[in-house]
Amino acid sequence: MKVFFIGIGLIGGSMALEIKHKNPQAVCYGISRQDETLDRALALGLIDHKAVWEDLPQADLVFLSIPVDASVNALPRILDLIPDQSLVVDAGSTKQALCTAVAQHPKRRNYLAAHPIAGTEFSGPEAAFLGLFDQKTMIVCEVEKTAFKLQEKAMSLFTSWGMRIRYMDAAAHDKHIAYVSHLSHISSFMLGKTVIEKEKNESDIFDMAGSGFESTVRLAKSSPAMWTPIFDQNKQHVVAALEEYIANLEEFKSLLEASDRDAMYQQMSDTNKIKEILNGIPLNK
Ligand code: NAP
Repeated sequence: MKVFFIGIGLIGGSMALEIKHKNPQAVCYGISRQDETLDRALALGLIDHKAVWEDLPQADLVFLSIPVDASVNALPRILDLIPDQSLVVDAGSTKQALCTAVAQHPKRRNYLAAHPIAGTEFSGPEAAFLGLFDQKTMIVCEVEKTAFKLQEKAMSLFTSWGMRIRYMDAAAHDKHIAYVSHLSHISSFMLGKTVIEKEKNESDIFDMAGSGFESTVRLAKSSPAMWTPIFDQNKQHVVAALEEYIANLEEFKSLLEASDRDAMYQQMSDTNKIKEILNGIPLNK
């Protein structure tokens, strides 16, 4: 089985390690923008060979893990090049733009739209590790548009990596993920920005930073090259989520200005139920 990875960073590299571990007969090929990234992926043992787009007619399986705006251009081109029985899976954090881009493609049935709810704040081939997807959820969108045999092939791979599968409409995926992932990242980036700006004048501030600060700003270490296109592609839902979040911040600020301790207490107490909601849900990125 010839498996091609277009994008061999955290996600593509971790998928390559899973394939090599669970399917020892597979030969893994990497395609990337920069040749130097492929050299690193080769040295790390993520891939067996460097490849180019012209090699895609040999592919049995293609994993696409590059920024979501680049995927919109790449996916139709990949479908043009692969053989009729091949499967293409993408891992992008937004799904609607990509599903729309290939809706009318003659090889639409060769494509499976997926989003692994797994990740870290690190990027590049060095960030990849075996086990990233274990006990995590793979969201699969518009599954009925993928050929049945190829659906089966993809699900058997994902479950062999220890993943649970959830099916969703692409529009519902983008709407819900705006709240649980995209808003959390913006909130972390802007918290980090606020504190960095303050720190310019008050150099002691980081001496006082505790584990609460560190865990809340962890996502602010994430790659802007990956997140800028995600926010832009999901702008409609992310703006709606931000408006609700800003309204909550404004309300809390007003309660504080009015020293309304009971109302502040109540808001925090109500929000404590997040413990029950998250209890039993494995925390991914
Ligand atoms: P990453 O570690 O930064 O790797 C990105 C890869 O894409 C690199 O191989 C890079 O190659 C290539 N690339 C960057 N810009 C490109 C462009 N404009 N055109 C073509 N290739 C480009 O990113 P990642 O975390 O693996 O994310 C990959 C995909 O997975 C994204 O679509 C993201 O939305 C999705 N995803 C990420 C996470 C997460 O937590 N990180 C979780 C779920 C899904 P070069 O080095 O050669 O430029």
